[in-house]
Amino acid sequence: MSLTQKLVEHIRDNGPMTVAEFMSACLYDPKHGYYATRPAIGGANADFLTAPEASQMFGELIGLWCAHEWDALGKPAFNLIELGPGRGVLMQDAWRATQRIEGFHDAASVVFVETSAPLMDEQQKRAPSAEWAARLEDAPPGPCLIIANEFLDCLPIRQFVLGEDGWHEKLAGIDEADQLTFGLSAVLTAPESDDEPGAVREIAPGLPSLIYEVEQRLHANPGRALFIDYGYVRPEGADTLQALKNHTKVDPLETPGEADLTAHVDFARVAHLAREAGLDVHGPVTQGEFLRGLGIEVRAEALKRANPDHAERVARELRRLTHSDEMGALFKVICLSSPNLPPPPGF
Ligand code: SAH
Repeated sequence: MSLTQKLVEHIRDNGPMTVAEFMSACLYDPKHGYYATRPAIGGANADFLTAPEASQMFGELIGLWCAHEWDALGKPAFNLIELGPGRGVLMQDAWRATQRIEGFHDAASVVFVETSAPLMDEQQKRAPSAEWAARLEDAPPGPCLIIANEFLDCLPIRQFVLGEDGWHEKLAGIDEADQLTFGLSAVLTAPESDDEPGAVREIAPGLPSLIYEVEQRLHANPGRALFIDYGYVRPEGADTLQALKNHTKVDPLETPGEADLTAHVDFARVAHLAREAGLDVHGPVTQGEFLRGLGIEVRAEALKRANPDHAERVARELRRLTHSDEMGALFKVICLSSPNLPPPPGF
């Protein structure tokens, strides 16, 4: 049975599902889910290209950021935790870039938080010394640096749409022909003041528990959590659910489980939840600002000098990561910290 059939039957028996339930099924269904079935990040068959897949400079600079922070924490033995490492390219580049930093490799235990079995195989190839945890709460205790690139955008979202008469929840249901279709719930609540009809609000119900886990860890021991993702600081009022298959946007209902489903991250909410939990928050800043602050331009020049044949490629990668027409402005970086640490580089 395909995931589409499974979803149609589920909806027939139980009624329409929230967008978050639909997203969860598409991404995490143990048999048909996107992450269970296709390690299609990076490489020729990729459905999308992430920053570490686009350029080695990304992982290198994050690695040096971690080394700097480890130094600022007093060089403890610590867990270098990556949430959703994909093919493990970021860690591979980070590890190589820090090999000459005395004591860093000995002090760091790499822990990957991952749910996808095919991707774990890829990660193992690039970071042989890593350990795995299914969830952040299962990672070993102790001081930590947590990094996560394009992880928060996988958190399933619920969507609410403003009609003439008030807010409705967007739901996935079936039409008369038993095809998957989006519809709206009955009115949940009246509109408020200047909300625009047609406006969409999105919330990630899983975000508070993730921030809670980070907070527990950063209060028990000193550390930082660095999240990089595409998203907004002020809600756009628009539908940001996106399905990508072979670098092309597709209808999320068309091929459930075969396309990557993501949504823009609400960085204001991440910051608010973290502050409420007593953490210090730095940023969000744009990815362009962050990487320039870490010296990506200097790194690019060094790579060009070392390998003049690749100069054009390096220039393209630099532009891709930092230019506001590419990943530089849409992508944001936020750092959550144990209280009273000095500001981290890049903010
Ligand atoms: N960070 C990588 C991959 C981003 S794709 C890169 O930048 O290239 C998202 C990653 O998060 C994948 O590795 C996916 O399997 C993992 N993932 C998604 N949801 C997860 C969850 N709930 N728990 C753990 N890992 C998850």
